[in-house]
Amino acid sequence: MSITNIDHFIGGRLVTGSSPRTQDVTNPATGRVTGRVALAGRADVDLAVAAAQAAFPAWADTPPIRRARVLFKFLELLNQHRDALAHAITAEHGKVFTDAQGEVTRGIEIVEFACGIPQLLKSDFTDQVSTHIDNWTLRQPLGVVAGITPFNFPVMVPAWMFPLAIAAGNTFVLKPSPIDPSPALLLADLLRQAGLPDGVFNVVQGDKEAVDALIEHPDVKAVSFVGSTPIANAIYEAGARQGKRVQALGGAKNHLVVMPDADIGQAVDALIGAAYGSAGERCMAISVAVLVGDAADRVVPRLVERTRALKVLDGEDLAAEMGPIVSRAAHERISRYIALGEQEGARLLVDGRRFDGAQAGAATGADTSGGFWLGGTLFDHVTPAMRIYREEIFGPVLAVVRVRDFAEAVALVNAHEFGNGVSLYTRDGHAAREFGRRVQVGMVGINVPIPVPMAWHGFGGWKKSLFGDMHAYGAEGVRFYTKQKSIMQRWPQGIAQGAEFTMPTAQ
Ligand code: NAD
Repeated sequence: MSITNIDHFIGGRLVTGSSPRTQDVTNPATGRVTGRVALAGRADVDLAVAAAQAAFPAWADTPPIRRARVLFKFLELLNQHRDALAHAITAEHGKVFTDAQGEVTRGIEIVEFACGIPQLLKSDFTDQVSTHIDNWTLRQPLGVVAGITPFNFPVMVPAWMFPLAIAAGNTFVLKPSPIDPSPALLLADLLRQAGLPDGVFNVVQGDKEAVDALIEHPDVKAVSFVGSTPIANAIYEAGARQGKRVQALGGAKNHLVVMPDADIGQAVDALIGAAYGSAGERCMAISVAVLVGDAADRVVPRLVERTRALKVLDGEDLAAEMGPIVSRAAHERISRYIALGEQEGARLLVDGRRFDGAQAGAATGADTSGGFWLGGTLFDHVTPAMRIYREEIFGPVLAVVRVRDFAEAVALVNAHEFGNGVSLYTRDGHAAREFGRRVQVGMVGINVPIPVPMAWHGFGGWKKSLFGDMHAYGAEGVRFYTKQKSIMQRWPQGIAQGAEFTMPTAQ
């Protein structure tokens, strides 16, 4: 099988780059190396930023309606190539094809939102703030902005960033995860076909070296990051030190609380889908089931049965509910956490390490014997002191914590250091309302397991799940990628009245 070289995309074309460093790209279902991605050095990053900087003045000056027209064309192309993008995601990430289609659709929705940029950039105006004086505000683009994205959504997370950034008149450098770098090049090619001028959207492949070069580059005015909390924290600090605007979205440990009055069938469906969908490798995955009162004894047996029955298959198999783990390293990390949970005294009800993936490709013909397979894992009697409760495992591992009542459930969620997403299952409107108001988490679902906000609402967690003060996309995304300018204007009539030395006030 041939191995593809995966390059950078700079100034409207593929560029090999000058750094000799590369990293293997693997199909997680088979364990086979399918590509070799370039890892940019500082010179490659300089080239990409220079291309973006050169493209900025003309793009920033292009009327928003014309920028929107390019995005409309891009939208059309995205819809035409939705399945090609989804297959590219499955090939390098491993998630099941239908889930990858969903990821692309959620990305497309941000492009649809960004197509409204003329309306989104419309500013306010006050006639006659003082006699013969008007005042209005403008939102202008920042310049070159960078996006650094994680492996788990190689299309959707970049799409949280670049459509609004370029719609607002910025130029963009994307640094995708080297684990699944190909979808970014497909996006770049579709943008080129849509008529985006060269240099407005660039991709530098790479790792920490490329990220450091982007953060330190004086021409990069803002950085959007999505990834794990330690890196998000470091990037926020380094970016702020350089005077850059930074939004850095980090890791998560999302709870789903089941009240005793909840519809237990619906709650179990929600837990199974949200814990094991995409093999738990979602920042909004549910990794903790908080079972209140006697809900526990009714929910746990059903969870055991359903976790054992999960269809863990090659992602290209349309019957698959869960695919492989993204990499050997991730597989080892998750397996270590399962062993740790046992040592910590949690009760291991379903052990995903026993799953043998050799037959996972039976229907697709893929040889999955060397893939990174794990089944769903379920722990009961997990306590807040355990590391498997406190730390993000980022795999198909669901921890059940039993609590006495609603107040204890809310206190548990609020004491956790992460605050990305949370969900409550109940039939009690008062409990739902109280939960929504009291819980210290950025995105809340009431009888909704994964409350990822739509394109026009904006996405962001609280606490250690987000560093910075603006959420991704939505109105906050427009604000993040623009700076406000206030213009006050007077057209004096008659002769000069002399200098004024007192603080000007409305006349
Ligand atoms: P990661 O932090 O390892 O990598 C994210 C990005 O940072 C990648 O582009 C990577 O190449 C780069 N990077 C890695 N190490 C670096 C370093 N030392 N210095 C500078 N850059 C570095 O994350 P991942 O494993 O790709 O993705 C999974 C993580 O992302 C999970 O923690 C998940 O919760 C989080 N995530 C969060 C959100 C959110 O919206 N909050 C969304 C998706 C994923």
